[in-house]
Formats: sequence, C-alpha cells, structure tokens
Amino acid sequence: MNYSKHSNEKKIRKIRSKGNKITTLLSTLFFRILVVAVFVIVAVGISSIVGVVTSIIDSVPYVNFENMVPEGYTSFIRNQEGEIIQELSVGDSNRVYVEIDQIPKHVRDAFIVIEDERFMEHNGVDVQGIIRAFYVNVKNKGISEGASTITQQVIKNNVLTSDVTLTRKLQEQYLAIKAEQILTKEEILELYLNTAALGKGTLGVQAAAKRYFNKDVSELSIAEAAVIASTTNNPVANDPVRHPENNRKRQMKVLNNLLEQEKISKYEYDIAVNENVYGNVQLVNEEFEGSSNYTYFVDEVIRRVISDLVQEGYSTTQATNLVYRGGLNIYITQDLAMQKIVDDVYRDESNYPPFKEDYKAELQYDLSAKINGKAKHFHKEKVCKTDEEAIKYMDKLKEEWLPEGSEIIAEKYYIVPQPQSAFVLMDYHTGQVKAIASGRGEKVGNNIFDRATQAKRQPGSTFKPLAAYMPAIDQRGYTLAKVYDDSPYTIDMPGAGSYSPKNWFDHKEFNYWGLNTIRDGIKWSLNILAVKTIFDIGIDTGFEALKSLGFSTLEDTDRVLSLPLGGLTKGVTLLELTAAYGAIANNGTYVEPTFYTKVLNHDGSILLNKEPVTRTVMKETTSFLLTSAMEDVVKSGTGTSARFPNMHIAGKTGTTSSNKDKLFVGYTPYYIGGVWIGHDKPERMTHRKSYQRTIWKKIMKEVHNGLEDKRFDRPNGIVSANICTVSGKLPVEGLCDSDQRGSTVKTEYFVAGTVPTETCDVHVKATVCKDSGLFPTEFCPPESLEERVFTSRLEPLNPESWDPVKPPRIRDYQYELPLSMENEMCNVHTPETNLIDLLNGETDGSNGTGISSETDGSSDGNGN
Ligand SMILES: [Zn+2]
Ligand SMILES: [Zn+2]
Repeated sequence: MNYSKHSNEKKIRKIRSKGNKITTLLSTLFFRILVVAVFVIVAVGISSIVGVVTSIIDSVPYVNFENMVPEGYTSFIRNQEGEIIQELSVGDSNRVYVEIDQIPKHVRDAFIVIEDERFMEHNGVDVQGIIRAFYVNVKNKGISEGASTITQQVIKNNVLTSDVTLTRKLQEQYLAIKAEQILTKEEILELYLNTAALGKGTLGVQAAAKRYFNKDVSELSIAEAAVIASTTNNPVANDPVRHPENNRKRQMKVLNNLLEQEKISKYEYDIAVNENVYGNVQLVNEEFEGSSNYTYFVDEVIRRVISDLVQEGYSTTQATNLVYRGGLNIYITQDLAMQKIVDDVYRDESNYPPFKEDYKAELQYDLSAKINGKAKHFHKEKVCKTDEEAIKYMDKLKEEWLPEGSEIIAEKYYIVPQPQSAFVLMDYHTGQVKAIASGRGEKVGNNIFDRATQAKRQPGSTFKPLAAYMPAIDQRGYTLAKVYDDSPYTIDMPGAGSYSPKNWFDHKEFNYWGLNTIRDGIKWSLNILAVKTIFDIGIDTGFEALKSLGFSTLEDTDRVLSLPLGGLTKGVTLLELTAAYGAIANNGTYVEPTFYTKVLNHDGSILLNKEPVTRTVMKETTSFLLTSAMEDVVKSGTGTSARFPNMHIAGKTGTTSSNKDKLFVGYTPYYIGGVWIGHDKPERMTHRKSYQRTIWKKIMKEVHNGLEDKRFDRPNGIVSANICTVSGKLPVEGLCDSDQRGSTVKTEYFVAGTVPTETCDVHVKATVCKDSGLFPTEFCPPESLEERVFTSRLEPLNPESWDPVKPPRIRDYQYELPLSMENEMCNVHTPETNLIDLLNGETDGSNGTGISSETDGSSDGNGN
C-alpha cells in the first residue's frame, strides 16, 4: 500500500512536471504577448495623456502675472427696476493694498507655517505635500487633506475659474509653476496676503487686522497674526468672533508651528499663547457691528449669492471677492414699498405685548479696562425684567469688575427687547421674497443672526394641514367631510409606552370637541383629529409630505405621532414654513423662495441666473380643499383676528404646547405672509392677545391696498354636496336636520368621485319624557312623550376609563344617546308622584320643578 502510494505520488509528480513544461511554454508566449500589449497600451496612454495635458494647457486662460490683483469694482444691489438699493464694499479697508514690506515678518510667517510650510523652497507646486496628502487621504479613506500651495491659492483666488475638476486643478498647478517663473516669492506672498478671504467679509490681512483688532497690519502681535492666519482654511467655521474656540485650536497650531520651525523664540511663544486676543476681538466686533449696517434682506442676499457661487464651484474666497469687489450687479426680489410697510409695523412698539406682559430686556454688555496697567476685557449677558433693571445691573457689574484706580478703555451695551418677532412676505406664484422682518428693535450689525431665515423654531399647529391633512387628502382620498372623534384617545406604541394627545385649549366648558369633520379640525385646530389622521395614513407618509414641501431641518427623530402637532427635534425656519404654505396657495406647486433673480458680472455677462425652482407637491384639488378649510379659520375659526375686509384670506394659526412660539401663516390670492412671536431663548409667554395676527393683519392690509378682491382659483373636478357633519355621510331627512343643536347638514366641497354614497348612521331617534329629558317610564303621561334625535357613535365612548374626579368635558357628549338606561329613566313621573298627582287632582303630569328646566337647559347647547 505504502509503495503503491509512493509510486502514485511519483506518477503524479511526473505528470505535473510534464504539465509544467507546457505551462511554462505557454506562459512565456503569453508573457511576450502581454509585454507587447502593455507596451502598446502604455504608448497609447502616454500619447493620449500628452494630448490631454496639451489640451488642458492650451485651454489655460491668459494671465497677466504682473497685474493680477483685481481692480476692486464696487458691487451694486439693485431692485427689479434696476434702481440701486445698496452699494457693497466692506468699508475702504478692503481696498487698501499693503506692500510686502509693510507686513511684519511674523504675520507672513504665521500664514506660511499653517498654509504652505515649504513655500520658500517649492516651485509653485509642493510635490512632497501632494504625496503626503495622498498618503493621508488613502489612510483616512477620504479627501480631507488638500495640498494647495500659497502660489496655487493666489491663482485660484484671482484667476477665476469655477469648475472643480481635475482639469482645473492641473491648470492651477501649471499656472502656479508659471507664476513662480515670473514673480518673486515676495511678490506672490504679497498678492496672497492682499486677496485671501479672512472671515466676516474681509479680504486681505489689512482688512482683517482692522476688522478684528482695529489695528494696522504693521501693529499686529504674534498672537493676533496667528488668529487671522487661522481663518484661511475655513473663514466661517474659524471666525474668531462667532467661533473663538475653533479659532483658538488652530491659532495654537500656528503658534506651535512657528516655534517648531524656529520662526519665533520660546519667550515670544509663551507671551503669544497667554495673550487675551479673543476679548479684544469681541470688543472691536461690538464697535463694528454697531456702526455699519446693511438691511436684513441685503444680508440674506449676500449669504445666498456667496453660497450659490460656492455651489457653482467657487471657493469662499473667490465668492467673497466677487461679491464685495467684483463689480457685480445683483438684482434682488425685495419690494421697497412692501418692505417699508413691514418696517413701519415692526418699528411700532405697540404691536408687541406691553411691558406688563412677558417683556424682558436681554442685556449684552462689553467692557474693557486697564487694571493695574493691564488691559482686561469683560463680557456678560443677562435677561432682565426691565431696561432699568438692566442698566442697574451694569452698574453692579462695574463695581464687581473694576478695583479702585482702574481705567475704562471702552464700554458697549445693547438691550435686545423680548419677546422677539419675525415676518416673511412672499409672492408665492414666483417664490420671490418681497420683504422680511428679522427682529424687533435696532439691528446691531451686518450678517447677524436672522430670525426670519435662520432661526429654527417649533411650528406648533401650523404643521397639522402640512403633515396630516395634505397627504391624507392628496394620497389617501380623504375628504374634508371625513369625521374623527375628538375625545380621550390613547395609542399604545410597542416598546415606547402609550401616547395620549391632548388639546392645547383648555376651554372652561370643554376640553374635547367630539365628532368633527376634518374641515372643523382645521378650523378649530383640533389635536386629536390631526394625530388620528397621521396614525391612519402612516407617519412616514406625513414625514415625506413635509420633505416634499421643502423643510430641510427635519430629523429622523421627528417621525413620531405628534409630528402634526409640530413639536420637532430642531424646528423649522419661518421662511421654509411660509414657502411650504405657499405651495397650497399656489395650486399645489411649490416654488423655492428666492431673494434675487440674477447676478451680472462687471462686464454685464450673467454670473448667476436664478430661475424659479418649482415642483408639483399636491393635486390642485387638494390645495383647493385645504384653502377652503383654511378660509374658515380666518372667517370664523381660530384666526379671526387676522381678518381684514374686502379680501379672501386663508390661514392657519399655531401655538406651541407651552406658549413659547406663536405663529400665523396666511395668504390671499396675491401674497403669503408668515409671522412668529417668541423669546430668543424659548420661554413661556402669558399674554392672551394675538399680537402675531395683529401684526399680520396690519402688514397684509396695507400690502393689499388697492388690489381687487377675488376668489381663490377653483380647479376643475371640484363638486359640492350636502353632508351630515357628525357622520361625514349623506344626511337623512328628519334626523340630521333635527339634531338638538340644530341642523348638522352642511354643503361641502369634494373632489369629483369622492362624495359619500352611504347615509348617516350616527344620528338616531329616541323617545324621551320632555318633563325630565330622560327616557320615559310607564308613569310618564303620553302628552309628555317626545321623539328626539341623538348621536350614537360608531365607536362608543368609554366612561368607565375616565378619571371620576376630573372627567373629560366633551362638547357633544350631552347629545349622545346614553349607553345604558341606568339612571336615565324619568325621575319626574314615578309611582309616588303618580299617587301625589292623583291626590292633588292634577292630571296633566307636568310638575314644573327645577329639575326638568335645568335638564332642558343643558340640551340647548352651542352651535358651531
Ligand atoms: Zn347625521
Ligand atoms: Zn316622565
């Protein structure tokens, strides 16, 4: 066995070795073919690479390296008529060109060590840096590390090409090498230090030195130079005013690099690390913000033009350069007459809750002083009850902060009135924003936080039509006649406990509204109807509907049943909320809001063209039905205080659970307006009056002055039919028209084909004794008997589950046919009363006691 195995192995080996020879022969042949093939491919490859490179180099734009700095044309903001609204330039400091020998060595070094440490050695392209960046990118599996030399950045900033492609990158490197052949290192660095975007709209070190430290560049300390150099890679994220902690991290890197590369001594390093630069930045910022002012609208236009240019492939530096000194003409959508109307209303302090109610004075206080010969900066924010209290508080702080003999260098305070408010006015047909109000009180500076376009707040009940009813009607065939019961309701959610929505209103008579149509759910802003609707259509359906309406700040954690009640993780901006309602107003077509229509270059060519971005997000019939229901809100529902005469108005109110946000979004056949009131730091408000709707009414009434009153468009495919509003079905004569509250028959609009075909199955008739209002007994005389119409819910209420101490007060419970006869039988006509009547000789059976009249009284009820 062993032998045979051995011989077998031998045999196998033999065969293998024979095979090997053949394989070797074959592979040699193959290898030769391969070599030839590779050679051919490489040859073709090289020639095509040469071709590509040649074509890239051929298409490199002509650059006059001797004269590369843009001349600095003033840009203009113009209205649609072409009239100049605002000249743009970040002061004159942006135009002051500083020669390299005016820039201290440590300022130059600060930029070199952080941006391009081999700047003095390379020939325009840093090969070592590229290899290192490639290695880091491979290691991190991403493109995070760039390897752009200062020379390349000069090319990028000043030779404006907008596409971010390999082609452009190659052109940039080619031009960088060329630039190094023509210009000296000093000349290149000078160009760079005069044109880099360094945050807050500054271009160049001189502008940045003025903006952050109110100094000439020649006076900058090492620590200050490092602050400015730290902004280059991301002027927004490393803005030393708004994000000093980010800037500090990078500033330390600059200082460490300076020390490691022996550009500064350890002594200089220690001083720089401990220098309180950010306090001075804040103080200088206060001065700047107080002085120069564009309107909130112009601020928003600048932000949008820069971000749109970045979208097109420009760097932030290029985009900022273009906006502030590219000689652009920016045509904005603002209507100055409308803006004036908005501004006038916002300037009038009587349009806000009075000092007694909710007023707060938010103090922002900055103080710089020389204490024992050392400059020190203080900053404090505090919410006070009154302006006087804020001023007293500042005196107290001064006593705390300043020891005897201190000298105040500068002092600045600002009192922001609270609650704040914002407004957005839009032409929803075009998406053009016509006016905004971004706050109450004085505007404190340029590019400050915008409450209309940036603040994320809770939308509250304004989300009901958007998250629940719109998708239900549009995608699930719901009608405005669909009825839900606004009554105690608990949904058990597996693994997440149970959810029992409550209504915001706590009416002294009722806290539940009973059987109601979706139309009335919108009109009265009933929470349980909205929650039941989204439960039935699915939360994801509601969530996706909101996404389609342009909301960009929704989170996955917002996929909850309370979504239509508008309690969100982050919230939404007033601008996006207004634009979303604009889609309903605009027959179902969403138009992205715009603040400008086009931007022209210095030579008149088009740089940006803002065509309206539109999409159909719901059927015309859906938008018509929602508008019709929201007309009820303003005519006779929760939003009547927004109404003004001679105009068709639709709208939706919104209040968040703890009264921290109050909103109204309303529209006419012409325009849409959204308004918000709340504290900057969300806080419960106690005022009862609807200041937000008064603001809305005052503005919109003026805006519509002279415009013809017309109806909202009614699309084809809308029919009307009579329905019973407690069942949502066709009315039954003698029942629905004889409800104890009066007739519940109403005319409703439907999409053709969705008119209900079943008849009312909620109304029932029953005989009662009219003397007691209760079911008759055998002792009730026949003339006391009467037929009455009751409701009999298809899903019965469950009184056994109610809190016996605080039972729910359901508005229509009194008209409901009692479930059992217990305690519901006539207590006026009993065997005893029968006997007494007989003894008294009274036979008519009516005793006229208080009991019966009280019972009668309770069945009067209130109509809608
Ligand atoms: Zn009915
Ligand atoms: Zn009776």
